[in-house]
Parts: sequence; structure tokens; C-alpha cells
Amino acid sequence: PITENALVIVFGASGDLAKKSTFPALYTLWEEGLLPEKTRIIGYARSKLSKEKLDEQLFWKIRDDAEQGHRKEDSEKMKEFQALVKYVQGSYDKDDAFQELEREIGTIEKEVFSGQQSNRISYLALPPSSFAQVSAMIKKHNYTPNQINRLVIEKPFGKDTEDCKRMMQSIAKDWEEEEVYRIDHYLGEEMIREIYHLRFANSFVEPLLSNKHVEAVSVVMKETFGAEGRGGYFDEFGMMRDVGQNHLLQAIAIMMMDAPTSLTDDSLRSNKVNLLQAIPPVNPTNLVLGQYAAAESGPKEDGTGKAYVEDETVPDGSKTATFAQWAMQVDNERWKGVPVLVKCGKALDKGLMEMTFHLRPPPNNIFNVPAHSNSLVIRMNPEPAVFFKANMLKAACRGTETTEEEIKWTVPGRKVAGDKLAYEANIFKGDQSSFVREDEVIAAWEIFTPLLNHIEAPDGPTPTLYAYGSPGPEEQYELEEKFGLLSTRGS
Ligand code: NAP
Repeated sequence: PITENALVIVFGASGDLAKKSTFPALYTLWEEGLLPEKTRIIGYARSKLSKEKLDEQLFWKIRDDAEQGHRKEDSEKMKEFQALVKYVQGSYDKDDAFQELEREIGTIEKEVFSGQQSNRISYLALPPSSFAQVSAMIKKHNYTPNQINRLVIEKPFGKDTEDCKRMMQSIAKDWEEEEVYRIDHYLGEEMIREIYHLRFANSFVEPLLSNKHVEAVSVVMKETFGAEGRGGYFDEFGMMRDVGQNHLLQAIAIMMMDAPTSLTDDSLRSNKVNLLQAIPPVNPTNLVLGQYAAAESGPKEDGTGKAYVEDETVPDGSKTATFAQWAMQVDNERWKGVPVLVKCGKALDKGLMEMTFHLRPPPNNIFNVPAHSNSLVIRMNPEPAVFFKANMLKAACRGTETTEEEIKWTVPGRKVAGDKLAYEANIFKGDQSSFVREDEVIAAWEIFTPLLNHIEAPDGPTPTLYAYGSPGPEEQYELEEKFGLLSTRGS
């Protein structure tokens, strides 16, 4: 772990990710006293950032959260934090720019770290196209062989298997796997972390989780908002790359992998890789694609409710899917024969993220309970919850009639909004268990690349249009029925 003399260098400090995520996380960690002693931060980018603009990058999110009543704005603390941050302007491709950065680092080491070398975290808040070049430059000019060096990158990790391998290889030329932290913020979500406890701190959940008791698994992620203003980024990636190949697949892997032998990074991550490698590429016949059209009541004043293709940031005539549903199989002994049906979409009727394990009816079904009336649900949105759907006695006076009830699992005092702070703190601690390993990312791409090639071929499928704010295309119910799931129509 890094416990002192930490230097965090945020490359791309002028950008959106730095403003929305990296700087707010660093500020909050510092405010909570979770940063190592004597931590200093350097923001690095090509843009000339005035003091005001740097201030805006650092605190935009804090102020926005304060305005919405989610936190307090403490101007004294913010001033104190700002004093820890230095901005260095420089290019990403010139040796002398990184040499200049090293001189600035040297000054901090002399003045703040009593001449000791720093432990360095280089956070690439940059477009992925520059990862290879910048990570090589850092290794060449800003690497401290006697101290800890870490490189942090965010998804997207490539666009398909080959592109991902190229990116990974270019980084692996200079960096050891133990030095690379690939962020998937979903892995910092409290409900995702909860899954480990649910499964491995209890003795009654694990025995249920196999094809012996589970008939089907479904994962649903619905967003009520569209691609408003983010169309440029989204259009290039689409729903499957944006959430399917990473966030949703990670949730599936954590819920369906075999039990790790310990909580060490590699035990967990190796078991996730084993699970992912048992999933064959998705068959295009089990696919539904949709794209949102204008809301039935027409666009609203705030700009929502417009058709996807009407968004100014979306290229004309785009065929990118804003809704996707597909079926997967896990070809291992534990899960063989259990379909995993995933659907995710934007501009839908409600916000929802949940994973459901639909259980088989009791072997001797004396109450004649309907199929899939028993299930285990892990819900992240709209409220974090774990519950069993169970058949209970309706009322003794009504004979043996059953009623479906939810047996809910709640933790008193648990914050409703997940506390994700621990996630970034893990980079300092050196805990890689919630960061994605290279072979994991590649295994995840292998499941989707053939399907993406099929979708993106010139004669690839055209997504079905659905109205903004509706439940999505009708075909989704046919796919549910094809895999023996109860249709979610109207639910
Ligand atoms: P961005 O704002 O487009 O770029 C960040 C900074 O990188 C820019 O301010 C710019 O700084 C520099 N830059 C822009 N284009 C460049 C280029 N072609 N070559 C080299 N440098 C360039 O990107 P971002 O939204 O912050 O995203 C950064 C990374 O995080 C990307 O991998 C993105 O996919 C990922 N990500 C972003 C978000 C988000 O909310 N924004 C969420 C999840 C993941 P200078 O010109 O001043 O040097």
C-alpha cells in the first residue's frame, strides 16, 4: 500500500472525466482523511488552464452536489485542498514536456517529501487513443524504480477483441499487471460488493446457485433518460459496449463464478475469468435491438423526449441501438442449460437495475405453484435490495391458497446511495480485486465481438423503433418466452 509521499498525476486534467469523477473522488477521499499522508496532486493537460478554470475542474462536482443538497460546500476545506494541487501544462507526445513534468515532481519531492522519492499514481483521464503513447512516456520519464508506480485507466478498453489486445499489449510493454488499475465503477457499487457477502458469508444462498435449482437468470438495466448531449460518445459505442460488455457482464460474473478460495485479488479475478471463458459468443439469432423514437406526447421543453436521431450530437441516420437484449449460456457443469437473458436500454418507462435467479418449482409441487414464482433478486436501482420472491400461505381461512410475497433483506442504517469512496481508496491500498484484469477484459470482448461484427456489417440488423418513455420493442417479450421466462410485458 501507499501510505505516504503519494503523488497523483491526473493526465487530461482539463477534461470531462477529471471534472466529473477523478478530482471529486480525490477531494472526497482527502476530506475523509483517506489519502496517504503528504499526498500531492498534479493536473496535467495541453490546455492553458487559468486559476479559475482549474478551480472549476476541481470543484464543479462538489458545488453541483452541494446545490442539489447532497453535501455541504466547505470553502475553507476547498481552499486547503486546492493548495495541494499544481497544474502543469504540456503535450502528450514530446519528451521535453514529460521531462518538465519530472522537474516539477522533483520540486514537490524536495519541498514536500523532504527529498524522498514519491509513490506515483498516474491517472489517465484521456481518450483511449492516447493511452499507449502517454503510458510509454510516463514509463520513460516519470517512473520511480525504487517506489510504487500505478497506472489508472477507465473503460472503454478497446472496441473489440483485437483492438483491446492491441491496447493491452501496448501498455504491457512498459507496465506490469500489478501496476495497472482498470476502473469499472460498477465494481465499486455497494450492491455489487454486497454480492460477495450474500454468497460467501452465508450458507443458504450458495447451494441454490446452480442449474439444479435455477431455471433461468435475467438481468435488466433500464434508464429513463436518453443519450442527451452524449450522443457523440454513445453513438460510437452503443448499448452493448457501453454497459453490456463491462458493467452487466461483471455483475453476472460475480454472481455466477465459483467460490474463490480467498478474497485476494487473483483468486476472485481468476474465478471471474473462468466464468467468462465458459460463455460462448452470443448467437445473433437471440438478439433484439431497438432505438428510441420521439415520445408519444412529443419532445419536452427540457429537450428530453426527442428521437435519438434528432439529438444534435448523434450522426444523421444512425443505426446505433439504444436498447439491446440478448441471451447467453454458461457452458460449465454448474450452469449448463440455464439461459442468461440480458436487456438494457435508454429512454425507457422506468429506471431499474436488477438481476434475478428464477428458481425451479419444488420437485413435488403439492401446492401447484406457478413457474418462476420463486426467485432471488439482487436490485441496485431504484433502491438497493436483496430479496426472495416466495409463495406463502394467503390466509388459513382460504385453505391452501398461496400468495407471492417478498422476503426482503435489508441492513439497518445502510446508506441508500452506495458509498463508492472505498473504490478509489483501493488504488492507494493496492487492492486490485475490484479492478479488471487484462485477461478478464479480453474474455469479455470475446463473448461480444462476433455479435458486434454481425450488427455492424453493412447488411446488419436495423433496430426496431420504440417511443421515448415506453417499455421498449415488443420483440423483447418473444425472446423472454423463447427462453421459458415469464413475459415482463406490463410489469
Ligand atoms: P475528454 O474530455 O474528451 O478528454 C480529456 C482530455 O484529454 C481533454 O480535456 C483534452 O485535454 C485531452 N484530449 C482530448 N482529445 C485528445 C486527443 N485526441 N489526444 C490527446 N488528448 C486529448 O474525455 P473524457 O470524457 O474526460 O474521458 C476520458 C476517458 O474516460 C475516456 O477514456 C472516456 O471514455 C472515459 N470515461 C469518461 C466518462 C465521462 O463521464 N466523461 C465516463 C466513463 C469513462 P487537453 O487538450 O487540455 O490536453
